[in-house]
Amino acid sequence: MSHCYLCNRGINAIPTREIDNRPVGACAICGVFACEGHALRDANLRKLRCAVCVPALLTASALVQSDRIRVRPEHQVAIANDQLVSTLDEFLATAPEYAPIVRELTQGLLETAPKVFTDDLTEPLWSSMPPESRRLLAAAAAIAKELHLPPSDVPVILEELMRRWL
Ligand SMILES: [Zn+2]
Ligand SMILES: [Zn+2]
Repeated sequence: MSHCYLCNRGINAIPTREIDNRPVGACAICGVFACEGHALRDANLRKLRCAVCVPALLTASALVQSDRIRVRPEHQVAIANDQLVSTLDEFLATAPEYAPIVRELTQGLLETAPKVFTDDLTEPLWSSMPPESRRLLAAAAAIAKELHLPPSDVPVILEELMRRWL
């Protein structure tokens, strides 16, 4: 008898979805079992993507586009290249359920960012990022916050940014 990893972690449902702890399949990125309320199937990739992997996916996509930035080994996010997205809009087109969260929070985070990333670790990272990478990271933080992802399920680099941001 399998259970939904995200239900057991107390993670909020994806907007408009219902959680029921009955797995519909395994996440193509991390392999955990996830229920209908905690995973979306990407119609183009033909793959199921759990909600825990979405902030990680957006973070990895942001970092890969910031090739001028040297990402420290402990900040790497391991996601296969064919899963990454190039823009936030491209991601939302395949997963529109996340759009309300992103619309509501991302712009606010982008506006507060210059004031909060002012220490050795986060400031050079943030200030050298291209605008689309910043949008992807802000959306990752917004989704992780709204779904109440436990810090242990958030990539280290995003967790460090969120600690200053939220
Ligand atoms: Zn679930
Ligand atoms: Zn996953």
